[in-house]
Amino acid sequence: MESTMMRFPLTLSCVLERAGAYFERTEIVERRPDRSIARTTIGNFYNRSRALAESLMKSGLRKGDRVATFLWNDTVHLEAYFGVPAAGGVVHPVNIRLHPDEIAYIVRHAGDRFLIIDAALLPLLEKIKNQAAFERVWVAGAAPGAPLPAGADHYESLIAGANGNFTYPILNEDDPAAMCYTSGTTGRSKGVVYSHRSIVLHTFAEVMPDAFGISQHDAVLVISPMFHVNGWGLPHSAVFTGAKLVLTGMHFDPAAILDLIVSENITVTGAIPTIWIAVRDALEAQPTRWKIKNTLRAVVGGAAPPAALLRALEKFNIKLMHAWGMTETSPVATFGSLKSNLLSLPECQQFETRCKQGWSVPFMETRVVDAGGAVVAWGGRDPGELQVRGPWVAASYYNNPETADRWTADGWFKTGDVATIDADGYICITDRAKDLIKSGGEWISSVDLENAIMGHPGVHEAAVVAVPHPKWQERPLAVVARRAHSEVTAAELSEFLSGHFAKWQIPDAFVFVSEIPKTSIGKFKKTALREQYKDWKWC
Ligand code: AMP
Repeated sequence: MESTMMRFPLTLSCVLERAGAYFERTEIVERRPDRSIARTTIGNFYNRSRALAESLMKSGLRKGDRVATFLWNDTVHLEAYFGVPAAGGVVHPVNIRLHPDEIAYIVRHAGDRFLIIDAALLPLLEKIKNQAAFERVWVAGAAPGAPLPAGADHYESLIAGANGNFTYPILNEDDPAAMCYTSGTTGRSKGVVYSHRSIVLHTFAEVMPDAFGISQHDAVLVISPMFHVNGWGLPHSAVFTGAKLVLTGMHFDPAAILDLIVSENITVTGAIPTIWIAVRDALEAQPTRWKIKNTLRAVVGGAAPPAALLRALEKFNIKLMHAWGMTETSPVATFGSLKSNLLSLPECQQFETRCKQGWSVPFMETRVVDAGGAVVAWGGRDPGELQVRGPWVAASYYNNPETADRWTADGWFKTGDVATIDADGYICITDRAKDLIKSGGEWISSVDLENAIMGHPGVHEAAVVAVPHPKWQERPLAVVARRAHSEVTAAELSEFLSGHFAKWQIPDAFVFVSEIPKTSIGKFKKTALREQYKDWKWC
């Protein structure tokens, strides 16, 4: 027997059409490069995305062709997010913060045929022009009359060239729609190709009440760059639900973010801990400047947030909600909303649970596997490798057969994260496998140490790395950036940690720096710290 149900493909063009029909007047707001605010509507975005799709097809875009973007968080990027896949193409937001050589490698490896670029980023195109070439280049935001690179055209002329005589190509839900490269802290960046189906299903999961909880009544702020894992899915989720969408443009400083949160009545957003740390510091420095009226659902992910950060932001009506994911998982895989059986726990235990990485969203399967290859039962105390599978998890990297060992024979993706799963199913990441510290045969979690140190009121940021040691193989070394006016010492931090850690787990050395080095998306760059302190002389 066969089911009697329609086979209806899950495509982004379907999401776009529905948004155009139902949410025509919903606002989209963006911060311009000069920091002014521009406003448009979903209706206008819908027309322009369709115009982009039509003009790209008239320009020769074939199914599966890659269209790279060198853009920040703006409406042109949003049009590319929907217009390129609607034409059968693959939108490829490139991480413009990477080194130009890496960008050139990514563009070549992806086989990008066309480029949409913000005028402010043209110097970057100049830097890579001898290493990577595009067949067509369209420049957005160029002042009228400003010179364009040879052969490039204005993005606005591309849009204006459409006459509305356009029908979508026939799309299969498994067709590629978008691609992102991993940020590649070790080795080359690797490409993940998302399908229409994987993006649509990820969007369904993301907007659920036990995840980001987004509806048409929300105002969503995209802080995470739109070149980092599809802007964490927020642009798709806002268009899908009809929520008001607010885009940060190229300004990610705490004042710019807080101004938007207040002036646009933002209800949902997401960012990495380093952004939230900067937001906390700004709020504490000027406690009366920003008044957040309704509690902001603020997702934190990309790295583990310290409990002290959750507590500090809650005083300002910002409720951090913890999520875990990767470029390879689109990104949302687990979400840390409190299960109803935990609501009666004392407050401190609730915070402890909220600092864990959460439980799987529907259709995402997670397991922890020990060094011997056995699956560890929930509630087990020993950490192992976190593995995942599901409809929006990559099954391979693009054109990269030598990385096939990142998947198990039975189809699970090996994340490289080391974790436990507690009796309620909450994942707790203790480290990236490569960040683990093994001292005298015992494992020490760098994440636990970092988060405890960042709980000290005199500390702005802290990263802990393993440094070779003649007796213990490795010992933890803490690199600490103090808060303004703080004079906290190594002895004070050591004493502070002794309440939470055994003596052998406490770092033997604390190095004070003005700032922790960051990756292109703002996470702590531990590879750089390991390299810098590898010859540390232990006394
Ligand atoms: P990316 O592909 O750049 O998004 O990086 C993914 C990696 O970031 C994961 O494999 C984790 O190591 C780390 N990560 C993401 N979310 C969290 C989180 N909530 N807590 C700890 N680490 C995280």
